[in-house]
Amino acid sequence: MCAMRVSRRDFLKASGIATGSLLLPTSAALAAGEVPRFPLRKKVGEVTTICTYCAVGCGQVVGTLAGEVVNIEGDPDHPINQGALCSKGAASLQIINNPKRLTKVLYRAPGASDWEEKDWDWALDRIAQNIKATRDANWIEKTAEGKTVNRTEGIAFVGGSQNTNEECYLWVKALRAMGLVYIEHQARI
Ligand code: SF4
Repeated sequence: MCAMRVSRRDFLKASGIATGSLLLPTSAALAAGEVPRFPLRKKVGEVTTICTYCAVGCGQVVGTLAGEVVNIEGDPDHPINQGALCSKGAASLQIINNPKRLTKVLYRAPGASDWEEKDWDWALDRIAQNIKATRDANWIEKTAEGKTVNRTEGIAFVGGSQNTNEECYLWVKALRAMGLVYIEHQARI
């Protein structure tokens, strides 16, 4: 006999209790007047992502409604956590919906005590200028033995646990092209 494999997500979808949605009353229950006749179910979008907290890299399902994140829970199809989340990951919703979340660029000039609001164009130009200046000031073309290395030891880079393999690949390409040698990832720390 051929055993059909049904994933936990397939089961949840088929049974109408997929992420962020609500149980629907049966037509028999509606007809019997056992439940109020108003729409109980709203369309909740789902996208998968990786928990931003630590290097375990648990998979999450993010539920969205009308452009807002309304739910984050463990992804039952993810091979690492199989639907489970620790207490930090389970509280991820508060990262998104949090009045204390910074939404603007803040800059504190050297020696200043106050923060200034800046726009992203200003910030990106400033970051690029500082990278260029630091790279130029610390450029090593040859070692003491005369070996050509073309590198800078004045800048280091640390990636985050939510970076995907593809993002890491692009990061390393760009960083090596700039001559960086000190490249680390939070997952290894
Ligand atoms: S859910 Fe917990 S264990 Fe999993 S990645 Fe997030 S912080 Fe780490």
